[in-house]
Amino acid sequence: MVRIIQQRAKCIGCNACVEAAYNRWRMSRKDGKSTLVGGEDKNGFVQVVVDDHELEDNLRAAENCPVNIIQVTKI
Ligand code: SF4
Repeated sequence: MVRIIQQRAKCIGCNACVEAAYNRWRMSRKDGKSTLVGGEDKNGFVQVVVDDHELEDNLRAAENCPVNIIQVTKI
């Protein structure tokens, strides 16, 4: 399994995570930040655990995030 964490308040809405892993990220029309699909907010850190097949795309999302607020860990 893979844990993805996003520190959402610091998102600048650049869309890079959506481009890297479009099944897991969406741009919010409400505030212009990206939303981690299926994520649960724990004190500002949005988390979700997903299947291994999403690892590669989300590692790329983390790598491409200009403000380094995405963390992807194999668990
Ligand atoms: S790549 Fe980072 S800054 Fe850009 S939309 Fe995604 S979470 Fe926000």
